[in-house]
Amino acid sequence: MSRKKVCILGAGLSGLSLALSQERKGNQVSLFEKDLQVGGVLQSIKSEGYLLDYGANTLSIRTKNTENYLKQHKILEHALDANQECSKRFIVKKNQVISLPQGPLSFLTSSFLSPLGKMRLCIEPFIARKKDNSPDETMASFVKRRLGKQALDYGANPFIGGVYASRPESLILKHAFPSLYETERKFGSIFWGMIRGGIQPSEKLPHSRLVSFNEGMQELPKRLAEKLSIPPVLGCEIKKIEFKNNSKWCVHAEAKDGKIKEELFDQVISTLPSHALLKIEWIGINAPHLFKTLAQTFHPPLALCFQGFKRQQIQHPLDGFGFLVPEKEKRKILGTLFSSTLFKNRAPKNYALLTTFVGGERNPELCNLPDNKILEYAYKENKKLLGIEGKPTFEHIKLWPKSIPIPDSTLDARIKAASTLSIKNKGLQILGSHLNGAPLPNCMVL
Ligand SMILES: Cc1cc2nc3c(=O)[nH]c(=O)nc-3n(C[C@H](O)[C@H](O)[C@H](O)COP(=O)(O)OP(=O)(O)OC[C@H]3O[C@@H](n4cnc5c(N)ncnc54)[C@H](O)[C@@H]3O)c2cc1C
Repeated sequence: MSRKKVCILGAGLSGLSLALSQERKGNQVSLFEKDLQVGGVLQSIKSEGYLLDYGANTLSIRTKNTENYLKQHKILEHALDANQECSKRFIVKKNQVISLPQGPLSFLTSSFLSPLGKMRLCIEPFIARKKDNSPDETMASFVKRRLGKQALDYGANPFIGGVYASRPESLILKHAFPSLYETERKFGSIFWGMIRGGIQPSEKLPHSRLVSFNEGMQELPKRLAEKLSIPPVLGCEIKKIEFKNNSKWCVHAEAKDGKIKEELFDQVISTLPSHALLKIEWIGINAPHLFKTLAQTFHPPLALCFQGFKRQQIQHPLDGFGFLVPEKEKRKILGTLFSSTLFKNRAPKNYALLTTFVGGERNPELCNLPDNKILEYAYKENKKLLGIEGKPTFEHIKLWPKSIPIPDSTLDARIKAASTLSIKNKGLQILGSHLNGAPLPNCMVL
């Protein structure tokens, strides 16, 4: 096969992964990134002895595919495992931070669900599978149907708030949690599916790992970038893409100093967020209206509040991953990570770092407030819930006006639009987390 000239747009995790996979196929790859650094939303910042992650805080290694990917790129040996205490997770119920059950005994004694809620959970294996097995069922409908309303309010709701900054009512189960969807289809119940090892048990690792890196999550894209034979072109924003008569793609990029670079390629692969596709001028392509369909992706706004305290200022032992807040509790935060418990070197010695999530689909209006107001909400909520004395000694905020892409009811149409654009325009491919899924393993292509 002849060596193709491939242009990849965006040096986030998706773009870097694709660039490496295209190089392995023997193609000549140019990777363009508008920022001056690689990583996209994976940004790790050092400030006053704290290490802050603006995007993902953890990478979950559950499957052999993810493990092999990290091994193949010699990255696994640099992974930093989360502190063992972090298997303990908390939620807020009736103004208290309570731990979630970690086993059958603690399930019985935990106040996470009422006795009625626990009984409802226990009858899950006897609930018949849905007759029509609707592929458009939301996460909320699935959880309520199989596990009951309390499991939705105090399990799925805070969990989806923490993972997607969204609501279970907005997520389509088959896209967001395909293995749960398949488990019901195949085994008729989550319980029986778990007993039999779930979907594709051979793919799963016997023990999953939750990891980051010494330098924070951005170390992952930085290490991948070092493996490329042609380094990414940084600080170069793609402005115009033109399909030429000779079946070549002419890509126009603008450097930070305003200089325009033009280059011809056989193939263009985008890993840009879908809203960025609309800012590009597309010339000579078929069905350009489909970019509007792609840009329907909903990304809730989200603010990350980083607050540092002297360890003794906080009464709570911070002996876990962090806590999540069910919407029913009517609080101004989605949850707080105990970042300095999660991984070592996230805070100076004898200090603690809390990372609090504000906004999301639940309270988008909070993200329009001034930074100091958002930080104040985070502080006040943590103060009451964790028993904090005095003010934070360190504060920092990162606002994502468009955070995580949601696998909602528009995703089928978006996937179809991306596929039609590829079929109608030879050499064009639209990929990225808005289509493939936001969790980091979805962005890694071998
Ligand atoms: C706050 C937050 C927390 C998260 N937490 C987790 C977590 O704990 N665990 C987990 O698994 N996942 C998490 N995720 C999801 C995960 O981090 C992302 O889905 C993933 O990193 C997206 O990578 P990407 O390469 O697809 O997109 P991006 O990282 O968005 O990369 C796209 C790149 O394109 C560039 N670009 C845009 N326009 C242009 C242009 N015109 N020309 C050139 N370049 C352009 C951008 O600068 C960017 O670098 C989180 C995401 C966010 C936002």
